[in-house]
Amino acid sequence: MTIDLRSDTVTKPGAAMRQAMASADVGDDVLDGDPTVARLQERVAELLGKERALFFPTGTMANQAALWLLGDRGTEVLLDAEAHIAHWELAGAAALAGLQLRPVRGDGLVMDAEALRRTIRQPSPNAPRASLVCLENTHNGAGGVVTSLPELRAISEVAREHGLPVHMDGARLWNASVATGTSLAEFAACADTVMVSFSKGLGAPVGAALAGDSAAMTDAWVIRKRFGGGMRQSGILAAGALYGLENNLTRLAEDHEHARLLADRVEGAGGARVVPPDTNILMVDLAHGIAAAEVVARMSERGVKISAWSPTRLRAVTHLDVGRTDAETAAQALAELLAEMA
Ligand SMILES: *Cc1c(COP(=O)(O)O)cnc(C)c1O
Repeated sequence: MTIDLRSDTVTKPGAAMRQAMASADVGDDVLDGDPTVARLQERVAELLGKERALFFPTGTMANQAALWLLGDRGTEVLLDAEAHIAHWELAGAAALAGLQLRPVRGDGLVMDAEALRRTIRQPSPNAPRASLVCLENTHNGAGGVVTSLPELRAISEVAREHGLPVHMDGARLWNASVATGTSLAEFAACADTVMVSFSKGLGAPVGAALAGDSAAMTDAWVIRKRFGGGMRQSGILAAGALYGLENNLTRLAEDHEHARLLADRVEGAGGARVVPPDTNILMVDLAHGIAAAEVVARMSERGVKISAWSPTRLRAVTHLDVGRTDAETAAQALAELLAEMA
């Protein structure tokens, strides 16, 4: 049996989730609504404290819809330099919404209010104007890093001072909430629109949602359709997401515990240094001369799949399909291998 730590997207729906999907009450959600999608959207809106939410096939489409909705063509989006929107959405901001991405580098692992403040340009006829700020919480590329509520509020305040709307890429906002005890709604109040994903830690096969006020979601409905995201009997998919919300949300704490277990065992092994994990993503920086690709290949021979985030950095993600014994086995194998390679 392999232990797959490449991503929290690799989870496979279990029997109970499949049963919930198979028996979902459905309708045509493009024509006049699907009752299970409606239930999911109401539940997400309620959890996030927003007026409405819309079900999307993917988080990428929901992020791109938010950029289209809130950004103005020919202007800049200010966002963390390592944001998913900047690195993993195939320049969609430029290709679709005509937006330029302006990376913001914080003093710590992720963008902070001060960094945002110093990056915003003085108005000038010769420099691009910003039209939107994007946040990412937890931050994937930084290693599942949580931006705290006070910092998020400060960022949102800077945006407001400059008249800029805020979109939050909250693919893993669930993890931020479970890790800190801050409610989803308190986090979401720092942004005009929020994207959440069901196919990461919650374990659903497909889906994301975009939440915001009613008028924004009326516009987002049109954008989603234009992007090809109008889905018919999508209640079958929404049922998986609802099941994940009901059953797999609070258990994210176990994933966080397993990531810490991995971090504790691997720290120092063969000179490796870990970024202490806030949530379920562990980044491991290798000692000089050890190649991430080689570690990945040799771990794979030992039945553990991890990824090379860069030539010298490993990434391991804990999730629903990795139990405590798996986490211990993987930690032991990695620590031993790194010591051997040193
Ligand atoms: C996974 C992810 C997305 C995109 O979600 P998909 O459903 O895979 O398109 C966006 N942002 C972050 C931070 C993610 O981790």
